[in-house]
Amino acid sequence: MRPFKFTQAGSAPAAISLLTSNVKAKFLAGGTNLLDLMKEDVERPDELIDLGRLNLTTTKQLTNGSISLGSLGKNTDAANHPLVRKNFPLLTKAILAGASAQIRNMATNGGNLLQRTRCSYFYDVAMPCNKREPGTGCAAMQGINRMHAIFGWSDTCIAVYPSDMAVALTVLDANIKVLQPNGTERLISIKDFHRLPGDQPEKDNILNHGELITAIELPANAFAGHSAYVKVRDRNSYAFALVSVAAGLVLQGNRIVSAHLAMGGVAHKPWPLLEAERFLKGKTATKANFSLAAQAAMRSAKPLAYNKFKVELGKRTIISSLELALKGDSYNG
Ligand code: SF4
Repeated sequence: MRPFKFTQAGSAPAAISLLTSNVKAKFLAGGTNLLDLMKEDVERPDELIDLGRLNLTTTKQLTNGSISLGSLGKNTDAANHPLVRKNFPLLTKAILAGASAQIRNMATNGGNLLQRTRCSYFYDVAMPCNKREPGTGCAAMQGINRMHAIFGWSDTCIAVYPSDMAVALTVLDANIKVLQPNGTERLISIKDFHRLPGDQPEKDNILNHGELITAIELPANAFAGHSAYVKVRDRNSYAFALVSVAAGLVLQGNRIVSAHLAMGGVAHKPWPLLEAERFLKGKTATKANFSLAAQAAMRSAKPLAYNKFKVELGKRTIISSLELALKGDSYNG
C-alpha cells in the first residue's frame, strides 16, 4: 500500500472542507472496499478523511412517515432495526444477502452505495481497464465475462455494480440525502444516483468531489407484506450475485395494483424492470402472468460471450421473486 495522510474530521462541513482542499483525498467510512482497493494499488488517495467521529449513524422516523438511515450507520444495524424489519423487510433481506457478517458489521449504509465493481480485471493492475485507467481498454470485453453486464453496457465497460442493498432501495424508491460543499443539501433518487458506463466508466455515480452522503430516506410503501429478495450466486454466502431480483407487489385480492421490480448483477447500476412492472399492473397474480412479465423484462438483454445463461436465469429469478412476494415470505431466497 502506498503512504497516505490520515485526517479525522470533527463534523460533516469540516470533512467536506478537508476533501475539497485536496483532489487526491477520499472519505473513509467502514473501509471494507476502499482499503482492499488501496492494498491492490487500484485506488491511490494520498489522504483519507476519516468520518468515524461524525454523528450520522441514527435510524429514525421522519414527520412525513419516511424512515431515515444515517449514512454512517452499519449495514448490520440497518438490517436489524425494528423500524426496518417491520416496514422494509425487503431491505433487511437484501442487506443480509450481501457479504459476510463481519463485513456487514463494518460496512456503512453510505459506503454500501459507493462500493466499486468486483470485475476481476479492474482489480488486476496489470490488465487494461477503462474504469481504473481511462483510455487503456477493457480486458473483460474479450476476456472471461461470465459475471458481467447484459443490460446498459457500453464499448468502454461491461462491469456490473455489486450492491444488494441498492437493488432493494431501487424498489423502495429511496432518496439519497447529500450535503454539498456550499452547505446546502440535495436529495437524489436512487434511480438516478448510479450511472451507466457510457464513455466515462470511471464515474460510478453522479456525486461530485466534496459531496457527502448524510442519509438514505425510505418513503412508506404498501407492499411490506408482499416483498422478496432472491439472490442467485455461485455459493451460498460471501459471493456477489450472478443475478438478483427485488420484488414488491401491491395487491387487491389476487389483482396486482402495482408491481415494483429491480434486478442486480446485470448492469452498471441497479436495473429497474419497467416493462415487467407495466405488464403486471392490473393483471391477476398468476404464474402465467409472472412468466410473461419475466419474458418482457429480459427481452432487451444483450449478453456477452460467457454470460448468455443470465438471460434464462434472470427470467427464472423474476418468477421466483414474484411467487415469494405473492406468498408474503420476504425471508426466502
Ligand atoms: Fe475495467 Fe469495466 Fe472492462 Fe472491467 S468491464 S475491465 S471494470 S473497463
